[in-house]
Amino acid sequence: MGVCERLLTLQGAIGRAVFLSGERGDSWVRVVGAEDVKERLRTIFTPKDLSLYVGAVQLKQALDAGDEWTVQIASEKVRPWMADFAEFPTLVLEVDTANKRASLKRTGVNRRYSGFVNYSRLIANMFERARLVMLFSEKDGRFLPALYCPDWKTAAFVVTFTGRVRVCANPKCNAPFIPSTDKEHYCTPAHGVAYRVARSRWRAKQAAEEKKQKQKTAGKSLS
Ligand SMILES: [Zn+2]
Repeated sequence: MGVCERLLTLQGAIGRAVFLSGERGDSWVRVVGAEDVKERLRTIFTPKDLSLYVGAVQLKQALDAGDEWTVQIASEKVRPWMADFAEFPTLVLEVDTANKRASLKRTGVNRRYSGFVNYSRLIANMFERARLVMLFSEKDGRFLPALYCPDWKTAAFVVTFTGRVRVCANPKCNAPFIPSTDKEHYCTPAHGVAYRVARSRWRAKQAAEEKKQKQKTAGKSLS
């Protein structure tokens, strides 16, 4: 299914559509592609808004890849735009055998679940204005389904989140690119290498901290 834009001139028109129920007369439309969005990113978004777009894309990619470190970094990028930013705690059951007591202790933030909730909220918000329309394609001579976006911001989100534009998965880079295969996640292979090295360092640090935490908890249960 394509993403379409209402045209004021006939240039680039591929067909006609009626967008709103009750509307009289039809409008000319053109299809919005990945290239159109990529070319216009800097005019669609202000530099500040661009970090919401980049953060949202990286958050989706990190959730897809199960990459907790990027979930954390991308979540921080989108946080300033979300009045309802979610942060759920991770809890462990702490058992005090001496006093026969057990309690739930907050050990940190459940990044993955919080990221999932924040991403869902962002997308619900960004897709709100897109609507399903049937447009009459002059070339095909028949009606085709399309998503109509009333503004370029909505179009950028819809085109991107239906998988046609990606942002380099290296959170230090942020460059948007159009992948030629489904397996491409970085704008250049070098950014993939640099990212994997940094992530394995972060994971080693996380594991060391978790081990320390566990030893502390185990020490408590024994006392
Ligand atoms: Zn890159």
